[in-house]
Amino acid sequence: MSDLRSLPSVDKLLKTPKVNKWIAAFGRPLTLQAIRVELDETRREHTINRSPIPTIDTLLDGIGSRLSGWTASSLQAVINATGVILHTNLGRAPLSHSALQAIQEVSAGYCTLEYDLGRGTRGSRSMHTEDLLKRLTGAEAALVVNNNASALLLILSALARRRGVVIARSQLVEIGGGFRVPDVMKQSGARLVEVGTTNRVHLADYQQALQEESIVLFLRAHRSNFQIIGFTSEPSLSEIANLAHSSGIPIVDDLGSGSLLDTARFGLGHEPMVQESLAAGADLVCFSGDKLLGGPQAGIILGHAGLVAKLKKHPLARAIRADKLCLAALSATLLLYIKDEALSAVPVWRMIAEPLDQLQARAQRWVENLGLGEIIPGQSTVGGGSLPGETLPSRILALRVDSPNRLLDRLRQFTPPIIARLQDDLIVFDPRTVLPEEEEQLLLGLKFAINDLETP
Ligand SMILES: *Cc1c(COP(=O)(O)O)cnc(C)c1O
Repeated sequence: MSDLRSLPSVDKLLKTPKVNKWIAAFGRPLTLQAIRVELDETRREHTINRSPIPTIDTLLDGIGSRLSGWTASSLQAVINATGVILHTNLGRAPLSHSALQAIQEVSAGYCTLEYDLGRGTRGSRSMHTEDLLKRLTGAEAALVVNNNASALLLILSALARRRGVVIARSQLVEIGGGFRVPDVMKQSGARLVEVGTTNRVHLADYQQALQEESIVLFLRAHRSNFQIIGFTSEPSLSEIANLAHSSGIPIVDDLGSGSLLDTARFGLGHEPMVQESLAAGADLVCFSGDKLLGGPQAGIILGHAGLVAKLKKHPLARAIRADKLCLAALSATLLLYIKDEALSAVPVWRMIAEPLDQLQARAQRWVENLGLGEIIPGQSTVGGGSLPGETLPSRILALRVDSPNRLLDRLRQFTPPIIARLQDDLIVFDPRTVLPEEEEQLLLGLKFAINDLETP
């Protein structure tokens, strides 16, 4: 026990220059807490495991790493070199400069979130985005909520609780992250009325479902992340909509990514567009703000004024409302579409539209700067629940190293961490998803990681 007396006191540690530096950086209460935890832990180790009393320098190291561990943010920016544009694990859509600027302007001080400047009275938070959405799509009314999963939950809860909702078996999808259309329907209290088979559904199947008493809604859900190929058939949205309308029943189209531009212009398949869905007769459409729209996380609902008004009145609408940061970023993003600047200013679309020769030139600059690696043809994907199975040809930097997994580890330890991909034993970096302003850091990180591997 006498050994424990050689353990420095809190006061003694407080007098060291290191601790004084930490007090300045992390504040006194947190620093004191780190010291106490470190000392307690050391006493315990000594008493139970007979561990020797550490030197003061070892103690200080322990205190320092506690402080940096406790204050490190695990949510941090990374460089996405995977070539997956809407990478759900990496935060989906990067925001445009104007969206970032809007967030900054609106949130540093107060704003007109629910204030009518003209009248000096209470205003509505929804007006900031609704007019823009209506102008862009021709929809009668709009509502923005927290995300698309909650948009669908609100629609079903407000319009179909304890009633039947018709959906094709081929659309009972799981989007990922545990989001399953049938579960959302159950949660809303709506009754699922499945029609057709996994691969084929006919208009007659929908017609037959209408024999049931309590049908109040048709739902179509986009198969965002898989394809059904082979012996398949499905009526068009307008055929289903006509049938629903002839019985006075509205149809809701969950579009998932909700593109406002045509992906087919860029050699991809055609992702269903918001405007098309409305034109085909969908009474409500819903989609995410952070997929192909390229904005913040949001759920956007468009369609008939009467239905949207019902949604707005439902208590759930208050629980899932969008916040001011989201509304600021979304308005700024929508404005880029209105001004026809989306292809150059919305990062997701700039990435989709980036021509092959430009990707080649960027990869070439990387090879020259690094003095190693080669450029090979590769494939970027849109990801994030759009265009499953579709790829965009790219030109990627490929590195052959002895221990690829160790290099990938090192790259993830860099600040900012670099996320690359392994392809046939090569480590590959796709310029398509690396923002131009990130290139310098990417090259710096690569040199650091390669050097680190070479030094034993
Ligand atoms: C992605 C997706 C959702 C969920 O949207 P979130 O904005 O992630 O909540 C719902 N339905 C479909 C068809 C989707 O693709």
